[in-house]
Amino acid sequence: MGEFRFDLCQKLTAGVVEELCRRKSGPEKLLAELRQIETEAEAFLDRNPHGDRSLIDCGAGCGSCCVVNVSTLIPEGLAIVHYLQQLDEETRSKIADKLEDLWQAVRGLDDEERMFLRRGCAFLDDQGCCSIYPVRPLLCRSITSTDAESCRQALSGQVFGEESAVIMHQFQQQLYECLFSGVAAGLEKAGLDGRSFQVSGLVRYLLGHPEVEAELLNGKRLSWQELY
Ligand code: SF4
Repeated sequence: MGEFRFDLCQKLTAGVVEELCRRKSGPEKLLAELRQIETEAEAFLDRNPHGDRSLIDCGAGCGSCCVVNVSTLIPEGLAIVHYLQQLDEETRSKIADKLEDLWQAVRGLDDEERMFLRRGCAFLDDQGCCSIYPVRPLLCRSITSTDAESCRQALSGQVFGEESAVIMHQFQQQLYECLFSGVAAGLEKAGLDGRSFQVSGLVRYLLGHPEVEAELLNGKRLSWQELY
């Protein structure tokens, strides 16, 4: 089997997203396209020999790696907000409180400082599962471990300054990273904001400012001050 063309995959993704954004088809179509990209990536990984996912040792309720900054694109943030809006009021308000609390603790921290803090993502539920799993960001999907225990040890070791590698499923990682950069490039080509933001800060902001969705899909660029 030939080498997978990540560059081509990135370019095709950018083209699809750009065209959709230029047509100004509205948030529902853009979010549906994002879902489609994710669904196709999952199906591709399932059938592609490079994607032998029997090697992956991650499981529900682990959440060890959910202590890092997750770069999230604006449509991904909007997808999370739409998903949260379907949840019951009590769950949504609990998550909103956790987001606020976490954002106050992590805003301004660099990746190393964020990890050192050992604070779990605001979307982890009481069982340690991702409460927004169907709409989790692309870069969350890119992180895997082929040995959950060594992953836990490596992450806690990094907190104490010890270097040890987390062995990941590299093909899956590269695939989701190329989709992430493809979506980002497509947004920018269509004149939208293709930059990424920390997931907790972005979703907290979008939840508190529902009116901004239309502006963002019309080319508004988020300023860091707004997020803070
Ligand atoms: S969004 Fe979900 S998968 Fe991603 S860091 Fe948060 S809890 Fe983990």
